[in-house]
Amino acid sequence: MAFEALDELYREVILDHFKSPRNHTPLSKFDVEQEGYNPLCGDQIKLQLEFQNGRVAKIGFIGKGCSISQASASILTEEVQGKTISEMEKEIQFFKSMMQGEVNCEDQDIGDLEALSGVRKFPVRIKCALLSWTTLEEALHFYQEKTKGA
Ligand code: ZN
Repeated sequence: MAFEALDELYREVILDHFKSPRNHTPLSKFDVEQEGYNPLCGDQIKLQLEFQNGRVAKIGFIGKGCSISQASASILTEEVQGKTISEMEKEIQFFKSMMQGEVNCEDQDIGDLEALSGVRKFPVRIKCALLSWTTLEEALHFYQEKTKGA
């Protein structure tokens, strides 16, 4: 498996998130819920978000799958705390471009996200890393549809 070939530092960060995932609890109430599935690897993610004054007040995820998919979801939930929809959309675009190798992340302070950039070397695992982010993108889409007429 490609995972063993990741840089040690990246591997540590990913394993830490995989073993003690952050916000790995279903929320008692939420404004939007979205599920994502990566058939190539069997990864499953369910994201739940609660908004307050246009910002993420709470986010929870449940899921199962490989370490990269679950660590990515855990990192995502930390990244989006307190963010607005447009801030999250920017971050999703950044993350996608980073995983597709279109942006250089070396000079940017992106915290644990950087660990996931190591996955770029293994094209089959990129979908694992992207799963929670595309699920978030869909969740935001549905949330906006839902609140449009309100
Ligand atoms: Zn996977």
